[in-house]
Amino acid sequence: MLLPEPIESLIVAFERLPGIGPKTASRLAFFLLRAPEEIPAQLAEALTDLKSKIDFCQECFNITAAGRDRCDVCDDPRRDGSVLCVVEDPLDVLSFERTGGFNGRYHVLQGLLSPIEGIGPDDINIRPLLERVSRGEVREVILATNPSMEGDATALYLRQQLRLSGVRVTRLGLGLPVGGDLEYADQNTLLRALLGRQELS
Ligand SMILES: [Zn+2]
Repeated sequence: MLLPEPIESLIVAFERLPGIGPKTASRLAFFLLRAPEEIPAQLAEALTDLKSKIDFCQECFNITAAGRDRCDVCDDPRRDGSVLCVVEDPLDVLSFERTGGFNGRYHVLQGLLSPIEGIGPDDINIRPLLERVSRGEVREVILATNPSMEGDATALYLRQQLRLSGVRVTRLGLGLPVGGDLEYADQNTLLRALLGRQELS
């Protein structure tokens, strides 16, 4: 059966989202078709605002309000710029901020290396990280990518890239479930992993 174009294109759009297959995409599209007017309207507005009202910090690539060059963490003079916590995405920043146990700054890669998906070093924010480190203020880089295959591969790559920089490079300590996602780690586990970080040699 051929679907009318507006439904078909909504299904295609949903299918491009992570974790959504054709079945879920169809279910969501038909749900919205039947739903009261305000539900799709609210969704449409939120999607428009997402891109127009949010920017990325030019220093660390965390999220910030549109029009602002730097995020709250980079703007805060009380934060310690000598320690950088390198994470995959802004949600990880949120997780660390919730622990209340980290006073350094962040660097958001906005992705992880993944040869399978064709994501190489130039596709994520690795070059800006190396530039930040080369400016000399940073003394320790904590590689806080997920303990997954991509997270480990990215950490290893960064370790190699930072080898000549002279900065201390550490990786989050044990306690995080292997293959897990930092985003879902509870605050205590994350704090323990942060405090138990180990030198990467
Ligand atoms: Zn920032």
